[in-house]
Amino acid sequence: MTPTNIKQRKKSHELLACEALFRRVLKEYRQKESIVSAYKREKAGYDGEKNVDYKLSTYPHKDLFVFQGIRLPNFPFYFQIDTLILTRRFIGILEVKNKKGTFNYDSKQQQLTQEVNGEVKSFKDPILQAKAQKTHLRGWLEKHGIFNVPIETLVVIAYPTTTIVNIREDPEVYNTIIHNESLHEHLNRLNRKYTKNILTNNSLKKLCRSLLDEDAPLRTDILTQLGINKQHLIAGIPCERCYAYPMNRLYKKWQCPSCLATDLKAHERIILDYFLLHQTSITNKECREVLQIDSPRTAHSILKSMHLQHDRENRARKYLAPSINDFPQRSTFPYINSSKQIEQFY
Ligand SMILES: [Zn+2]
Repeated sequence: MTPTNIKQRKKSHELLACEALFRRVLKEYRQKESIVSAYKREKAGYDGEKNVDYKLSTYPHKDLFVFQGIRLPNFPFYFQIDTLILTRRFIGILEVKNKKGTFNYDSKQQQLTQEVNGEVKSFKDPILQAKAQKTHLRGWLEKHGIFNVPIETLVVIAYPTTTIVNIREDPEVYNTIIHNESLHEHLNRLNRKYTKNILTNNSLKKLCRSLLDEDAPLRTDILTQLGINKQHLIAGIPCERCYAYPMNRLYKKWQCPSCLATDLKAHERIILDYFLLHQTSITNKECREVLQIDSPRTAHSILKSMHLQHDRENRARKYLAPSINDFPQRSTFPYINSSKQIEQFY
């Protein structure tokens, strides 16, 4: 008797690309402030959302369909919803906030400030943000022939240690900016408020399918954004044991030029990282450059072994990246010391 999860939360492209960058960037740039802070920001967002996912997954109610993160087109715009809840009676938008410290919300000034260790930062009004998403979703639903389902928005503070101060004691704010801990009570409130079925089982099913079909995760050009170029990156495959690079191609395996460790599949992660960091396709020539090998035949057999989709049958064939939602989710920082180095930043 718990909600049905229609779409599992996946790491954002930006988070996957930050992780890829830690694997690909030269050791001396690995602690570059811009890379570390981009990574920390994305990781904190992801962790906060996972907290809310867990709370929602334990809500004892079965007629709830959950999309853990979705980005939809409402042309010419795209809009992103942290968590979308569908029922036959109403739709819920959860906007997740992962900030810590004290949140002061002023509903009259429509302003949110965060206080941590004496430092004050201002943020966009989360209620206005959630309302903007509601307007976008309303537009999207109308294009799909759905007109009268009520949409409710909740701004969910992911961590119990965050204090929310509703400066104007505005009653609406108490029902809009909530702690993750009280999510179940607020869902109960909405369940009591909306008792009439608006959607049929069939239209709900159809709606779920359209949402999945139109989900378009954002892709970020992280190298440009962080000012990273070719000379900051490792050429070829680095050895996981001793950092030496590039590993050499022997018959069907890779060998470290320094410690002589071997690896059968070292190319796979590097090619996936290329897709995350550079572009969404790769040719035979680009593959040889990435892996620092000369043989077109070896590149061909390597690309073929990865079962990637490709565009045509000739020599200029482009092998295509998987969808962002299909990338491996494991955070592997394959260099012995690097994951420890990253943890130190927390
Ligand atoms: Zn080595």
